[in-house]
Amino acid sequence: MRKTKFIAVTGGVLSGVGKGTITASIGALLKFQGYSVTAIKIDPYINVDAGTLRPTEHGEVFVTVDGGETDQDLGTYERFLDITLKKDHSITTGQVYLNVINKERNLEFDGKTVEVIPHIPQEVKHRIFKVADDTQADFVLVEVGGTVGDYQSVLFLEALREMRLEGDQVFFAHVVYMPVPGNLGEMKTKPAQHSVRELNSVGIQPDMIVCRGQSRLDDIRREKLSMFSNVSKDFVFSAPDVKYVFEVPMMLEQEGLTRKILSKFNMKYKKPNGQYKEWANFVEKIKNLKKEVKVGIVGKYFDSGDFALEDSYMSVIESVKYASWSNNAKPVIEWINSKNFEKNPKKLKDLSKYNGIIVPGGFGGSGVEGKIAAIKFCRENNIPYLGLCYGMQLAVVEFARNVCGMKDASTTETNPKTSYPVIDILPEQVENIKNARYGATMRLGSYDAVLKKGSQVQKLYGKDKVSERHRHRYEVNPKYIAQIEAKGLIFSGTSPSRKLMEFMELPKNRFHIGTQAHPEFQSRFLKPAPLFNGFIKACLK
Ligand code: GLN
Repeated sequence: MRKTKFIAVTGGVLSGVGKGTITASIGALLKFQGYSVTAIKIDPYINVDAGTLRPTEHGEVFVTVDGGETDQDLGTYERFLDITLKKDHSITTGQVYLNVINKERNLEFDGKTVEVIPHIPQEVKHRIFKVADDTQADFVLVEVGGTVGDYQSVLFLEALREMRLEGDQVFFAHVVYMPVPGNLGEMKTKPAQHSVRELNSVGIQPDMIVCRGQSRLDDIRREKLSMFSNVSKDFVFSAPDVKYVFEVPMMLEQEGLTRKILSKFNMKYKKPNGQYKEWANFVEKIKNLKKEVKVGIVGKYFDSGDFALEDSYMSVIESVKYASWSNNAKPVIEWINSKNFEKNPKKLKDLSKYNGIIVPGGFGGSGVEGKIAAIKFCRENNIPYLGLCYGMQLAVVEFARNVCGMKDASTTETNPKTSYPVIDILPEQVENIKNARYGATMRLGSYDAVLKKGSQVQKLYGKDKVSERHRHRYEVNPKYIAQIEAKGLIFSGTSPSRKLMEFMELPKNRFHIGTQAHPEFQSRFLKPAPLFNGFIKACLK
């Protein structure tokens, strides 16, 4: 028997009830007991990875150190658990089938008929075990995306069921939603009961139920749900809405969840370690912050309503929050649609009401001129500016146009005919794009950068060499570097070969910094990313 303990987290009733947060919180609580924890997210879609998904479709594309383009839940796990995950911690239906079919083509099945059962769940188990073996974690959390009863997730549930049957230690936590219909004003347990039946129908009896909802689950309903779901009452937990997701671990700890999970594995519960205290104190602090820091995010994925928005820029938003909190300020984040500046340049003046502006990553031409205009406004008015990936590329374009006199300077992504291609495609990507092989044609994952001594960026990081995650096809064109630097913008970080520009800054401004990387992917709840930290400090000055 494997010594690894697995905790499978499924969802019932609705999607979007915070299953990722519950999963991460369970992980955090086990970490506070001193165990090593890792997590896997299963996504039942055919896309091989999230790289080809539009952010408004499925949230942000999270990038792992080894260049995986994954579901945003991996980001939640990293931020909560302060761990670094690799791409194989994200499993999709597409990957599973692709691999089984490739193996079949390579004659790896010895002439057998290859079938959905058993071969697909076998591949799923193989992937889960690989993570367990590679990480040697005490606990592996496996979150199954979607809602039980979905046709798509059945084979993943089957894999987990088989794992337990075959002797692995698997604990099933089922996260449900408890609606309070407006006309009744009463919390209903029925949808949750039915979702447990759905699980039962694929051979799984949950060990624990976590009830999400507007308010606490009362005793009558706890008993009812316990009775109809065949889960003992003290394994039915309540996790009502809270203002900050970071309150969830404490809420579950106080409910006794950690003790219960450990008891199922015959493990002893201890008092949570010092990290718990640190976490709890920090949450207490952020609840009481008064001073505000107002940050505007200028972007374009703003057409599909507020719901999609938060998710599309998840890591950026979280990074702004952590940096603000650690500087004792309450973040107020506002969305600014760059297209507004194109329609009405007078609106640019509105940017003055922010303490700082961010242009995050992005692709394609829409809204680009508005972003460039916003960057110009920040530069000229000394408003702290942080450019992330596209946000750095466009800051370079802006500077080339308006300071270096390269009139129609641009990125060839939006204007292939520009006379000054200051941002241009990497030679090695040209072929891929010509052949429309877009999936995985980017510079992806962690790359080192060496920082210029004495630069603002170097001071913020407090070291000479850093590693950040990347996801882009275009680069600063080396041909124009001398001309740009002659006018005062400096490239304060480059690849170790010095060929690729990784960071830029305008020393004469308070904070006018951009990076080709995505430092937002390395922010942790209690450890804000250095560039965001510096940005917020500048905003508060
Ligand atoms: N579109 C730009 C590129 O591909 C920037 C990408 C990004 O911001 N992630 O290089």
